[in-house]
Amino acid sequence: MATQQVCILGATGSIGRSTLEVIKLHPERFSVYALSAFSNIDTLASLAWDSQARVVVVPDNAAAQRFQELWPAGRPLPKIRIGAEGLCATAADAEVDTVMAAIVGVACLAPIFAAAQAGKRILLANKEALVAAGEVFLSAVRQGGGQLLPIDSEHNAIYQCLPQEYSGQVPERPHNSIRRLILTASGGPFRELPLDDLAAVTPAQACMHPNWSMGKKISVDSATMANKGLEVIEAHWLFAMPPQQISVVIHPQSLVHSMVEYIDGSILSQLGAPDMRVPIAYGLGFPERIDSGLPDFDLNLLKALDFEPPSYERFPALRLAFEALSTSQAACITLNAANEVAVEKFLQNKIRYVDIAAIIEKAIDQIEGANHSPLRCLDDVLALNAQARAVAGELCLTV
Ligand code: NAD
Ligand code: MG
Repeated sequence: MATQQVCILGATGSIGRSTLEVIKLHPERFSVYALSAFSNIDTLASLAWDSQARVVVVPDNAAAQRFQELWPAGRPLPKIRIGAEGLCATAADAEVDTVMAAIVGVACLAPIFAAAQAGKRILLANKEALVAAGEVFLSAVRQGGGQLLPIDSEHNAIYQCLPQEYSGQVPERPHNSIRRLILTASGGPFRELPLDDLAAVTPAQACMHPNWSMGKKISVDSATMANKGLEVIEAHWLFAMPPQQISVVIHPQSLVHSMVEYIDGSILSQLGAPDMRVPIAYGLGFPERIDSGLPDFDLNLLKALDFEPPSYERFPALRLAFEALSTSQAACITLNAANEVAVEKFLQNKIRYVDIAAIIEKAIDQIEGANHSPLRCLDDVLALNAQARAVAGELCLTV
C-alpha cells in the first residue's frame, strides 16, 4: 500500500497537532508532505522536524527566515512556501493526496478551494468554507471530483450514522429515509449562569470549555453557541438538509456527538470520548477504521446522558444562525464575518460578551438592507465577507 501524502493546513493549531498525533501512530499508512503555520514558527519548525515534512508554508519572508535559522545546520531544509499563494499551491500540489483543512477562519477558503479544484480528499475541520461559501464551495468539490469528509465532531458523527451511499460524496438532495439531523451541543461554560451575569463574563471564562480543549475562537463560539449555529449551516450544506429538518439539543456530557433520526423512528448516534483524534482518525483512515490512540472507553460515563432544548434568550447567536440560513447566503457570510470580528474584539476586552450576538444581528440587518452582487465565485464571497467585516468593525465601536 502506497503511503497517503498528507498536507496539514494549520498544523500548529489544536486540530493540526491532533492530526499529527494520529498520523504518528501509522507510519506505514501516512507521510506528512506539508505543514502550514501562521504565527508560532518555532513550533512549526519542531513539528516539521519531527514529522519529516517536505514542504512548510509560512506567512511571509520574515517567518521563512526565522524557520531557516531554527533548522539544524547541515540538514536538508524542507521547501518553504509563502503566504496565501503558497498555501494554495501546496493544497493543490500533485504529490498531495489528503488535505486537512484546519486553518481557523476565512483564510482557509482559498487553499480549500484550491484543494477542491484539484480533486483532493479534503478533511474539513474549518467551518467557514461551508458557512460562507456554501454552494459555491460544493460546486468546486463536485467539479474537482475529490472527496469531502467532515471532521467537526457533530458532522463526523452524523456522517458515520448515514446510509452507506454517502461515502465521500456530497449529496444534492436530502435522503428520503432521514427525518432529521440532531446536533448535540455541550451548552458551554455559561449554560447555567444567571442571565444577568452574562454581561460581565471575561474572555478567560468564555474560553474555559467544560469538555473539549480547543482554540480560543471556537471556545468562545461554543460559549455563545454561535459555533452550533455555524454547524447547523454546515450540516445544511454537507447533507443537503433543509433547516427545518435540523435540530439542536444541549447534551452537557458531550458523549453523544450527534444523531440521525430516520422516518421509521430509529435514531442512530455516534458516542465516544470528546476527543478530536476520533473524527480525525475516521477521516484519515476512511473507509477503513484505524487506531486513534484513545484508550478503552469507560462505560460508567454513560450512566447519565442529559438532553435539554437550548434557550434562544441565553443563546441568541443560535437563533440568528437559523434565521440567516433561511434568509440568504449573504446573511450567512455576514453572520460568520461579524461573529469573527466581534469575538476578536471580545478577546481583546473591547466589547462585552453579550455584544457579540447584538453585533451579528445588526450587521446582518445592514448587509441585507444594502445592495450586494450575486455570489457566484470565491472572489464574490470574499468581497462580501470583507464588506461584512467592515460593517461589524464599525458596529463594535458603537456598543
Ligand atoms: P487553532 O486556533 O488552535 O489553530 C489555527 C491554525 O490556523 C494555526 O495553525 C494557525 O497558525 C493557523 N492560522 C490562523 N490564522 C491564520 C491565517 N490568517 N492564515 C494562515 N493560517 C492561519 O484552531 P483549531 O481549534 O485547531 O481549529 C481549526 C479549525 O477547525 C477552525 O475553523 C475550527 O472552527 C475548526 N474546528 C476545531 C475543533 C477543535 O476541537 N479544535 C473542532 C471542530 C472544528
Ligand atoms: Mg463541533
